[in-house]
Amino acid sequence: MADNRVVQGRMVTPKRLAALIEGEDVMDAEPIEDAERDCPDCGGNVITVGYMPSAMEFVTGYKCQDCDWQDTNRD
Ligand SMILES: [Zn+2]
Repeated sequence: MADNRVVQGRMVTPKRLAALIEGEDVMDAEPIEDAERDCPDCGGNVITVGYMPSAMEFVTGYKCQDCDWQDTNRD
């Protein structure tokens, strides 16, 4: 599964990563990509995943691979 990435020492799928960011399971998620930015907290690598928490919403989420930092494109 090339889509899987290691986040804080655990292998995650796109949907699992999206659930970590959202705080609950999501309907669907796109493949994980490198965000090409550094974590503001620890300087670690940030990855990004687009996901649908519901049928009406699409969110782009960001997560550091090394610490708890996360963000979304929500206001
Ligand atoms: Zn970090």
